[in-house]
Amino acid sequence: MTGTKKRPGPARAKHFTASDDVIGGPLTGTRSLSGLARSRGPAVPRRLSDARRLADTRRASEWLADTSHAIYDWNSVSVSSSLRGRVFTLCDETLRDGLQSPSATDPTVEEKIELLHLMSSLGIGAITVGLPGAGERAYRDSLALVREAVRTRLPARINLSARTMEADLRPIANIAHATGAAVTAYTFIGSSPIRLFAEGWTLSTLLRHVEAAVTFAVREGIEVCLVTEDTTRARPDILDPLFRTAIGLGARRLCLCDTVGHATPDGVRGLVGWTRNLIAGCGADIGLDWHGHNDRGLAVINSLVALEAGADRAHGTGLGLGERVGNAAMDQLLINLKLGGAYDHDLSNLARYCELVASACQVPIPASYPVFGRDAFRTATGVHAAAIIKAQRKGDTDYADRVYSGVPASWVGRRQTIEVSHMSGASNVVYWLASQGLPADEDLIATIMQRAKSTRRVLAEDELHALVAAQTRTSNDANDMAPEMTMGREREAAVVN
Ligand SMILES: [Zn+2]
Repeated sequence: MTGTKKRPGPARAKHFTASDDVIGGPLTGTRSLSGLARSRGPAVPRRLSDARRLADTRRASEWLADTSHAIYDWNSVSVSSSLRGRVFTLCDETLRDGLQSPSATDPTVEEKIELLHLMSSLGIGAITVGLPGAGERAYRDSLALVREAVRTRLPARINLSARTMEADLRPIANIAHATGAAVTAYTFIGSSPIRLFAEGWTLSTLLRHVEAAVTFAVREGIEVCLVTEDTTRARPDILDPLFRTAIGLGARRLCLCDTVGHATPDGVRGLVGWTRNLIAGCGADIGLDWHGHNDRGLAVINSLVALEAGADRAHGTGLGLGERVGNAAMDQLLINLKLGGAYDHDLSNLARYCELVASACQVPIPASYPVFGRDAFRTATGVHAAAIIKAQRKGDTDYADRVYSGVPASWVGRRQTIEVSHMSGASNVVYWLASQGLPADEDLIATIMQRAKSTRRVLAEDELHALVAAQTRTSNDANDMAPEMTMGREREAAVVN
């Protein structure tokens, strides 16, 4: 968090009586993590006096000086459940599922080690470092990462992936024994009818694999999480015996997978709730993971809903990298958890994490990508820029950072950027000139606006500088001409007189 300015206004819930003259009725207000407070309360109609208050600019500015009035937070008006106060961990799958993206390049082991530390620095509590049974390099890198975690006493729990086969679990056992690390084996098997049909499997096949895998890992002293692939399309009468068998044999966690990005938030609630009931019926202390993909563009919201519904661990990958269109984006999960007041950990390394995922995996960040895309905090639109500039002129950087942005740029070491295009007004140009330490010369503003309106895009920095340089040359020329012009005018005046 970088917004450190001490601000006025209530830091905690501020209760008003019925006689308090405030918009939205009695507030049960709260404050955001940026230090910019938001009001929170029931959706009741505004009173006439409140509308009058806002119509009166002077009174409105006084009223808004109490920052709890600056943003009315509809997100908290009708909340079915909340993550505030809930205990959960996040699991970073970038180094396993993320690398399964067809566009990703396998990073060097040095880059993977840097990513490992970045993940841990973000407070991510579990990190899957690979599938060591996949081949020689996968084994070597997994071993190096587990060694690094042990050497540096990394606080995050280390996971290694495996099919429900001894051939995949034995390398995990070897790594655990070689390093002395307490790793968790995430051992997976398909569970949906369509997968069973494709593979020619029956429930007996699945149970045989699960029994053999869990028994082997537990005997080797390795914690087990049973991962049922395609859980969101699997029948309860298949999942029930798989889960009970794994738990009975000593598995400590279950992982619900939306392997093909099928689930909606309703489906997530249904599946997580059903599984929580099954776990409660077993009377065991079993962790519950949610692992979601983004085929319908719902991966992030589904992961948040899963945590609200009772999962205690949500998976994600840097920039949402993963199979097909990827997984829940870890960076977006973190930002949303923080915005929701459910995550207090320092996120100052989040930008570096995203940059390294992009560079090491050679997957560029799209310009419009949330928070970390090039355009996330840029605007060239006149109305937007004017509002930001007006907020800045009031001397309030927090307001300027939020007036046209759902995420404060300052959280991730960035700032609101105002540019100049055919959509701009003069205030964009004035702002840009000020940012360059240049005076708001009217002729120069007119020249830049004229150029901007003649284009179909944002003017590049070097174009703007070229216009400034041309204008400066013109002015200098005019100054050089000035004595002659003066003399000419004097001659003119003499003639007239
Ligand atoms: Zn996956």
